[in-house]
Amino acid sequence: MRKLPEGKALLGKRALVLGVANEHSIAYGCAKVFRALGAELALTYLNDKAKPYVEPLARELDAPLFLPCDVSREGDLEAVFGGISERWGSLDIALHSIAFAPKADLQGKLLDSSSEGFKIAMDVSCHSFIRMARLAAPLMKDGGTLITMSYHGAEKVVPNYNLMGPVKAALESAVRYLAFELGDRDIRVHAVSPGPLKTRAASGLKDFDVLLTEAVERSPIHELVDIDDVGLTTAFLATPFAARLTGMTVHVDGGLSIMA
Ligand code: NAD
Repeated sequence: MRKLPEGKALLGKRALVLGVANEHSIAYGCAKVFRALGAELALTYLNDKAKPYVEPLARELDAPLFLPCDVSREGDLEAVFGGISERWGSLDIALHSIAFAPKADLQGKLLDSSSEGFKIAMDVSCHSFIRMARLAAPLMKDGGTLITMSYHGAEKVVPNYNLMGPVKAALESAVRYLAFELGDRDIRVHAVSPGPLKTRAASGLKDFDVLLTEAVERSPIHELVDIDDVGLTTAFLATPFAARLTGMTVHVDGGLSIMA
């Protein structure tokens, strides 16, 4: 991991992290930094098939809560918050780092996307963030931070991002509306928008390697970002250093998104 700033800016904080699939997951990069800065963690895994990959990471991060969560399965998210409520009684940070679209819809043109595929992508990748916020808010008695992961394809057309473009655009808009609705409870809401990273989710996109090559060539820093970079910025948003920021989409992309 990159060298962390001195101090334990998240000491005593409790963080829920949704979306660790393996050690390449953006959510794992975030969880590592949350933990290194002193936070206690609750981690989830998608299903029994995913569990053996996530369990060692949960152990490494001393997560006292490790629960199954498929957001498309009725009651799973509620059970996670039930577990948090029972064990901790409060929550400070909730990270949503999950996305899904059926392969045929993900790899085809938006023009050809099916109603069902669009609905699933929207539910898992966007509305589940809203549900997470609804369940988290009552536990954030002293305020808190809700964060989701977006991508530049929400704002500009990125070839091969297809239906995920409009889905992420809805997610970024949801962030702004939730920031508005939760602001008076001192709950801040953000989207983090990383540059392309080689992860399981990204491997479902056609010609993803082209995006990686272009990111190196065109971004001002001429390097790819890694999950630690994303983790550091995400953790910053949950610290008092970011106490007056809300409703933002923060690009962690080496400046790629400023380029024409
Ligand atoms: P990843 O494959 O490691 O993580 C995706 C996660 O989504 C997995 O943990 C998976 O289990 C989870 N998930 C999928 N369907 C789910 C469901 N029904 N219920 C619960 N969890 C479910 O890949 P990643 O790249 O770390 O993706 C994390 C987030 O980052 C996604 O929102 C993705 O769109 C976003 N993102 C990724 C990149 C990139 O280039 N990798 C860039 C920008 C944004």
